Amino acid sequence: MAKNLVVTGGAGYIGSHVAVDLINAGHDVLIIDNFVNSHPKAIERIKEIAPGRIDLLERDLANADHADEIVDAIKTFGADGAVHLAGLKAVGESVEKPAKYYSTNIGSALTLIRALEAANAKSLVFSSSATVYGDYNDNPVTEDGETGATNPYGRTKLFIEEILKDIARADNDWKIVNLRYFNPVGAHPSGKIGEDPNDIPNNLFPYIAQVAIGRREKLTVFGNDYATRDGTGVRDYIHVCDLARGHVKALDWLSGQKNGVVKDINLGAGVGYSVLEAVSAFKRASNRDIPYEIAARREGDIAEIYADAGLANELLNWKAEKSLEEMCADHWRWQSQNPNGYKTD
Ligand code: UDP
Repeated sequence: MAKNLVVTGGAGYIGSHVAVDLINAGHDVLIIDNFVNSHPKAIERIKEIAPGRIDLLERDLANADHADEIVDAIKTFGADGAVHLAGLKAVGESVEKPAKYYSTNIGSALTLIRALEAANAKSLVFSSSATVYGDYNDNPVTEDGETGATNPYGRTKLFIEEILKDIARADNDWKIVNLRYFNPVGAHPSGKIGEDPNDIPNNLFPYIAQVAIGRREKLTVFGNDYATRDGTGVRDYIHVCDLARGHVKALDWLSGQKNGVVKDINLGAGVGYSVLEAVSAFKRASNRDIPYEIAARREGDIAEIYADAGLANELLNWKAEKSLEEMCADHWRWQSQNPNGYKTD
């Protein structure tokens, strides 16, 4: 059944792919984004890929002065539920500026909760992260693994999960899924939307892509002395389109659930690749050289993590379908068609 769905952070990397999938599934979408870490061009591109009803509210969920207007807009839109992706996501910056991370990420979630309560639209899919597992679990990691983030960014994800659990306990009308993403990479196969970091990329794939296109001289590999098969860090890379599809599945699943449900669900491919394996795959996909140098480990990094994605398969009938080759080919298509991200045109 077609629904009216709010997507906070809908102009961002993951949000733009989620918006496309929701529109393609027949839903109407209201994007709320302040473009702090995203670009208005993404909205035009979403519309090119997925024609349908898409509204935009350019406001900051963490700004108390915008809150009333956001609440009104969500009510007027006639929201049935939301996907909440808005927030800051740079681990290093969160260590330097913890208060900024707590006020922005938790403040945004609280404003959205207030608005959904006012609109009586108490279905929510929250973009959480595998970072909530810290370094305390054996691989593959299951949802009942131990949690404990190692930096303020990760703690905002964990705290919001906990806040949502309290809210659903107090008010049985809520239905909530916390999607714990592993490492989203790749881009829409059209090459029209993708990841567009504002600054020097923190994450591996956007960095590799910028080296391949010639914007950066070489990749720094953070450590080759981990207890992994080639000594470099191992992660569970998941194609952003697979990830986006998981949100549609999660919302569908929530529709059929009784009130009061709250579930944590991993979205990962269930396979780990090392940094050097990712570099080789990207090299093959782009046919470009990717020079790299080995450096010291990055503080806070863990050796290896990959998902047990069985629960998503069981509950949502979802599993990752796209290979590492497709992730690299699609990431490269986006990067080569948009060498400077959305800022080129
Ligand atoms: N990594 C790297 N060089 C970079 C960025 C990342 O060697 O410039 C490594 C990092 O140490 C980790 C993997 O690539 O083993 C994935 O890092 P990313 O920051 O993308 O994700 P996360 O660490 O949050 O899982």
